[in-house]
Amino acid sequence: MKNALPADAAATLDDLFARFQPLREGSLNPATLALGDTGEDHFAIALATADGELLSVGDDAVPFAIQSISKPLLYGLALDHLGRDAVHRRVDVEPTTEAFNSLTELEEDHRPYNPMVNAGAITISALLHHDDPDGASDRMMAMLGDYLGRPARQHPRADDSARGAHRNRAIAHLLRHFDLIGDDIDGALTLYNRQCTVTADTRELALVGATLANGGVQPRTGRRAIAAGNVRDVLTLMFTCGMYDTSGQWAYNVGLPAKSGVGGGIIAVAPGKFGIAVISPPLDDAGNSVRAQRAITAISNALGANPYAARPAR
Ligand code: GLU
Repeated sequence: MKNALPADAAATLDDLFARFQPLREGSLNPATLALGDTGEDHFAIALATADGELLSVGDDAVPFAIQSISKPLLYGLALDHLGRDAVHRRVDVEPTTEAFNSLTELEEDHRPYNPMVNAGAITISALLHHDDPDGASDRMMAMLGDYLGRPARQHPRADDSARGAHRNRAIAHLLRHFDLIGDDIDGALTLYNRQCTVTADTRELALVGATLANGGVQPRTGRRAIAAGNVRDVLTLMFTCGMYDTSGQWAYNVGLPAKSGVGGGIIAVAPGKFGIAVISPPLDDAGNSVRAQRAITAISNALGANPYAARPAR
């Protein structure tokens, strides 16, 4: 099925880019600074359809660390390889109003709320690592490459950022304490850090969104990145939990599954239609890119992508 964009879609992206470029709000995350990616002005918008049409504007070829945008993708990998029961015995599917790197709820409930917050994502990395200590990293990189449409690469300063991740180390020890993960905490955290420090540019990330929009097949390469039957779970948790502790606001305002990372990227998916990616590193208090949220909201409105909104008669 052809998912052709409206004829004026490229002009719409150009207009929105110009509208949001002067916006100067938010601050950079320490993880971004640890990677040496200052890039306050780095701003790009890309849109990729489920059949592979790609539009973009701005600094669309500058790679940046995908950070938590990796979380839904690793969650999908765990569903593919370990199955739903094994994953959800240890990680719940509830949204949370706690910060993404909180230990509080884990301490109270002894189980991470969902795979989109650090406690849940580290559990998933640990499950994958313990299932196959020697092969998990290669499997992850291959899977990410299938989404991106080219071999996945690490940020050159990935190891620097791992050294400062004491809060994640504390989360991992609590997970071990509650018997949710195995003994090899360093191995689990190494995998988690590797997933966060894979780099992609905005066009490639739009294709990640388009792959999810396309039932798990990368529209440009034709390669399957995730089993078709698991796409639904990934998109559902992106919708309910993908935007940190403002996921409810996002669902209410935009109506699309999305995932943000503290590097300043956000992907959003219009299932069956297209993926959007925006990069702009300055973040709001929840950890979501200020400009990316505004730009994606405007694109979604311009294209009538919110499935809950009444559509104008054509
Ligand atoms: N590497 C970051 C961390 O674990 C990723 C967090 C994020 O993007 O939400 O704190």
